[in-house]
Amino acid sequence: MNIVLLGKPGVGKGYISKYFERDFGFKHISTGDLCRKNIKEKTKIGQIVEQFCTSGKLVPLDLILKMLKQELKKSKGQSYIFDGFPRNVQQAQELENIARVDAVVLVDVPDDIILDRISKRRVCTVCNKVYTVDEVANEICPTCGENLQVRADDNVDIVKKRLLVFETETKPLIEYYKDKIVKIDNSGKLEDTLKQLDTHFKKVL
Ligand code: AMP
Repeated sequence: MNIVLLGKPGVGKGYISKYFERDFGFKHISTGDLCRKNIKEKTKIGQIVEQFCTSGKLVPLDLILKMLKQELKKSKGQSYIFDGFPRNVQQAQELENIARVDAVVLVDVPDDIILDRISKRRVCTVCNKVYTVDEVANEICPTCGENLQVRADDNVDIVKKRLLVFETETKPLIEYYKDKIVKIDNSGKLEDTLKQLDTHFKKVL
């Protein structure tokens, strides 16, 4: 079974992916993480995608597909949770040639909460774990002790651009996947989000 996660930047897709990964053994595939890994390792692809990622624009499809297919080769036969892919209808059509989509989770959070959460988001420079400033006493990762930093594309102007990209490019996917969509409100407490996920998925997974 494969699941697609849809939602604006900062709605908590990473957190919700963990639910499927930890509780049901799904393999989490985040195209944003793949871009950041390639940028960090200064690969050929990384050097090209950096300009798109840091300005909040979509990376060209051929490059996203190359990274995605490389990653899928490493974990054949697993159930996948696709996070950040597809981002538009063209990508959804490409995905049909790669994997069956059984369910789509649309994660919903109002824009004012998104902007607040993203302004507080910190990422470990080494283990890539994500925290909010409220969770950490200093800018040090509680897991591995390395420095935390603000993601390059988490500045307010770039986040606004990414929200606009969601409206114009990604929103049509809600109609595209209308028969498979489950909407999850992740604006409140995490326990409430987990309850909603359990209601929809515990019996079927
Ligand atoms: P994310 O971590 O999913 O918010 O992605 C961060 C950035 O990576 C995006 O703003 C895009 O520049 C790029 N990116 C991630 N996934 C895709 C995708 N499916 N198509 C194009 N660009 C992507």
